[in-house]
Amino acid sequence: MIRSPLNRLSIGYELTLADRLFRLGARPPVVCSLCHIGKKTAIRLYKTILQQSPKQGLLPYDAYWIVRSSGNNSHASIFLGLIDDFSEQQSQTDFNTEAFITAYELYCQVVANNLRPSKQEASAPQSVLLNINRAWQLAGQLNAKEMALVICDKCHARYVVLSSMPKPFQQCPICDVWADKTGRRRWTTVNTRPHD
Ligand SMILES: [Zn+2]
Repeated sequence: MIRSPLNRLSIGYELTLADRLFRLGARPPVVCSLCHIGKKTAIRLYKTILQQSPKQGLLPYDAYWIVRSSGNNSHASIFLGLIDDFSEQQSQTDFNTEAFITAYELYCQVVANNLRPSKQEASAPQSVLLNINRAWQLAGQLNAKEMALVICDKCHARYVVLSSMPKPFQQCPICDVWADKTGRRRWTTVNTRPHD
């Protein structure tokens, strides 16, 4: 994105956004992409705020994360639903960093208030299955139309699907699941039930 040289005010603003992102667990490449600061500044800021060096190497990436489990899917759906709501309210096509941060903070609040967490959720701190770096990747996938939000015919929940998947595999994380003996929730397409 081309911008006029940043004045002091906007540099301060970008650094405030970067600070919020780092405190939410963002890694420097994500912060560089969302704020207009360079790699060196991002790393210096990271060390100052978190008192440690950032992890090296590429960010882990899994294009199929949302279909790995219904838990992943419902968490991604909450977050991307918020992103979608915010982008509808803004008449701009630009990725809005503030909206991204707010959506992620709201997502964390929503999932932390789950009174009946699943096994998968109970094993994660504050029941957060979606870390902010992955959230950034998912928002990019939604933006690129690799993913879409659809409404379930049965329960009317809004959930996220991979656009390239055939319809039977675009399953609702609430309706199209069953629990195995251990209480793990599985997609109905992963049908290993002995009898039913
Ligand atoms: Zn449903």
